[in-house]
Amino acid sequence: MNGWFLGVCGEYQNDSRESRMSQKYHYFENNESFCGRYQQATDYFENGIESGTILHIPQHACQKCYKKWLREFHIAE
Ligand SMILES: [Zn+2]
Repeated sequence: MNGWFLGVCGEYQNDSRESRMSQKYHYFENNESFCGRYQQATDYFENGIESGTILHIPQHACQKCYKKWLREFHIAE
């Protein structure tokens, strides 16, 4: 499942300092975030949001993922 999901720590993450719950939404494609910081099986997550929604709350999106997403899908800011 591709889409915007909160980055989540847990069994899919190692126990480094950065593995805590992210307060930002990341765009996942093939279970990997665009920014490369997160890998998770998004099929099991229910905390995703509609792609259109992120345009209204870009401050809650990971900036790296957001920029790449805009480029990748040719979405005008
Ligand atoms: Zn990201």
